[in-house]
Amino acid sequence: MKADKDKFLKAAHLIHRETNPLNAKTVVQRHGARAVVVTPPRLPLTQERMDSYYGLPYTRRAHPAYVDAVPAWEMIKDSVTVMRGCFGGCSFCSITAHQGRAIQSRSRESVLNELKALAADPQFKGTVSDLGGPTANMYRMRCSKPEIEKICKRLSCVSPTICRCLDADHGPLIELLKAAGAVPGVNKVLVASGIRMDLARLSPEYMRELVAHHVGGRLKVAPEHVDPGVLALMKKPAHGTFEDFARKFREENERAGKKQFLAPYFIASHPGSDLSAMIALAVFLKRNGYRPDQVQDFIPTPHDLATAMYYTGKDPDTGLTVPVARGMRDRRLQRALLQFFKPENYFEVREALLKAGRRDLIGGGRDALIAAAPPREALAARRERGEKDFHERARTTDVPKSPKAGYRPGRAGWGRREAKK
Ligand code: SF4
Ligand code: SF4
Repeated sequence: MKADKDKFLKAAHLIHRETNPLNAKTVVQRHGARAVVVTPPRLPLTQERMDSYYGLPYTRRAHPAYVDAVPAWEMIKDSVTVMRGCFGGCSFCSITAHQGRAIQSRSRESVLNELKALAADPQFKGTVSDLGGPTANMYRMRCSKPEIEKICKRLSCVSPTICRCLDADHGPLIELLKAAGAVPGVNKVLVASGIRMDLARLSPEYMRELVAHHVGGRLKVAPEHVDPGVLALMKKPAHGTFEDFARKFREENERAGKKQFLAPYFIASHPGSDLSAMIALAVFLKRNGYRPDQVQDFIPTPHDLATAMYYTGKDPDTGLTVPVARGMRDRRLQRALLQFFKPENYFEVREALLKAGRRDLIGGGRDALIAAAPPREALAARRERGEKDFHERARTTDVPKSPKAGYRPGRAGWGRREAKK
């Protein structure tokens, strides 16, 4: 694999195909005189096992060794996990390696018992910050055809399309959400885990329950991109899914008499994403008035398929070449396009548009991303960055002292200095 990137790609694909614990084979890779052995994943936890683990008497506190506040704990202290695993199979996500492809859910009683314990905690303020897991809405979902599941080798139950065998019933989740809201001491139950929009939009009842009772003003969703090619490489639903979900979200808000918003998340520099794809995304953001305040920059992480694409420059499914932004400059341009509206990104956005031959998006046109002339803040930001880069280079560059450096008799200029004395 070290010598041949195609073999690395093949190995990555093979390992991902062997993740269904019902049929996974042991994968062996010879390495010198030894071998690396990847054992099949363990069988999914039963509901009883899940209940027994989640029912242990946890303190729900950070470890006493911590003196200062722990931000990660602050974020999760009032949330409750209802399931593990995900059958989404997104290329950039390693949840399959961590928690498996099959959904493992707790019983309703187990979740409600935890909520009662939470409500009895004097530090609890009445709002459950999240009821979810790796995703918000896969609770109790599973393959409805055990005989097919036993032999299935698909990497995702929802990509490229939702499998006909998938039982995507939101009923148990809706009941759980309703029951959670009725626990004495609980005033509100929010959903902050990622919503699988392709599934949610198929259940009007879930959309109604979600919008009416479980959104705290802004709902974070992750369409990740708009370009069809990039979305296919990510194994994410097509862009139309997000638009349909957004429309239903708006309708349910109107029905409930609420004014709530979607906060969509996108990734820059994912393999397959080039400047044209990012410009299409920026134009979409502009047309729809989205201004993401947080930007995700693709980072290769061990064990996911997107990393194999990043390293090899090829699609593991087809072997076809995909564009990859590896250099810092290319990555910076892609990231800037996601926040084209920020004055400090002006010059990068301009460079990206000129590179992609999209001068039409500079100036006063309807879809123009930036003005023709840089705003004052852009010039100030460029100067500041230039100075910072200069000092950073000076700090980190280990310049070896030239043997000729400094004032020494015999060196060019020595005579002049001596004459001045
Ligand atoms: S849906 Fe979310 S948790 Fe599941 S694979 Fe995709 S990114 Fe990961
Ligand atoms: S048959 Fe369909 S629903 Fe069942 S495990 Fe395979 S992809 Fe998932």
